[in-house]
Amino acid sequence: MKPASSNKNFNFDQSLALFSRAAKVIPEGIYGHQNPAFVLPGNCPYFADSAHGAHFRDVDGNDYIDFLCGYGPVVVGHAHPEVEKAVSGLLSKGVCFNHPGEIMVRLAERLTGLISIADWSIFAKNGSDVTTYAVRVAREFTGRKKIIIASGAYHGAHAWCTAYPGGVLPEEAANVRPIRWNRLDDLEKCVAENSGEIAGIVLTPYHHPTYTAQEMPADGFWEGVREICDTEGIILILDDIRAGFRLSIHGSHEVYGICPDLVCYAKAMANGHPIAAAVGRQKFREAAEQVFFAGTFWFAPAPMAAALTTLNILETGNAIAEMERLGIRLKTGLEEIGTAQGFRVTLSGPPALPYMTFDDHPDLYHIQIFCREMIARGVFLHPHHNWFLCAAHTDADIDETLEKAEIAFRRVKEEVGT
Ligand code: PMP
Repeated sequence: MKPASSNKNFNFDQSLALFSRAAKVIPEGIYGHQNPAFVLPGNCPYFADSAHGAHFRDVDGNDYIDFLCGYGPVVVGHAHPEVEKAVSGLLSKGVCFNHPGEIMVRLAERLTGLISIADWSIFAKNGSDVTTYAVRVAREFTGRKKIIIASGAYHGAHAWCTAYPGGVLPEEAANVRPIRWNRLDDLEKCVAENSGEIAGIVLTPYHHPTYTAQEMPADGFWEGVREICDTEGIILILDDIRAGFRLSIHGSHEVYGICPDLVCYAKAMANGHPIAAAVGRQKFREAAEQVFFAGTFWFAPAPMAAALTTLNILETGNAIAEMERLGIRLKTGLEEIGTAQGFRVTLSGPPALPYMTFDDHPDLYHIQIFCREMIARGVFLHPHHNWFLCAAHTDADIDETLEKAEIAFRRVKEEVGT
């Protein structure tokens, strides 16, 4: 796909027309976090047409360097030939059977081989499926009700954890207690106030809330969490859905020195094909077996083939190192160009999953204008959600992004100052 030219006048006419049609027959037109209201209404594409490598095309024919990668699943590049070959090889043998295939056992063996704490693995389709499952396993194991999370963290769209009240009974979320990320004092207080009642703590490996800078774990944070869990008999559930396999083929807990009991994966596991997994230690297996877990489509073999191939590519190639290298180039480049234009900007989080903030403007207006200007020049950056590098990004993509960022920073300065 050819890169977008810097002076192309992007319009979103087809996106807007499709949205009008959609709004008549689909609640909200586009629901969930793909709703344009979460990005930049009127200034971003609403519908996609196709994607290859690190680029995608919208329904108006605009081409972009893709720094969202399907909100994370695309890790070795859109429509990766090896992954798609593995998938299409299986599709011709049938898509959905009465039984799982041999491949499910192979994938479980692969995950238990790759992930230090995994003695078993179970599969579903979405991240929310497995975070909810892990919470149930923790409740089953401990016989307790309450769950601790970090405030601002996203663990899915299910009733126990959604931030949106529509249709949710207060009692469905009543047993969830938020603490502040990195605050062991909060955690100690919360555990003391709910002594003997906490089943599990659900945390991401580092904090990646929307709208604000990402926060890395402070020294001693994870050790402290583990100690409290051990003392109080609380199950430590790591939600590695967003970062899993992008930072390490062995899971993000290896990067940050975390000792979780149960871990949830989805996104990058199968390069965009729908599959999620929960893995756990042997001692939780009996509880895991008591939790009824089922979905009509969950045993489909093709996404499992995509997962096996994606994991092989990540393990044998230099994809993970490349994403980090290019992410560091992007971070350094944007921070330098921003500074030269008079802004204080920070790219927080791991280089392969960065988020940019204008540090003097937490109201988001500056980042929105910046992303609007980048999108209009063919670089898709989300103003409110962390970005994703994939292994198909190239140095040329980063060069082009930085070149356009210089123009975009200038446009921000002209419009709203530094
Ligand atoms: N946990 C985390 C950390 C996530 O980023 C997400 C998805 N953004 C989920 C859970 C839920 O995954 P899904 O949207 O596939 O249900």
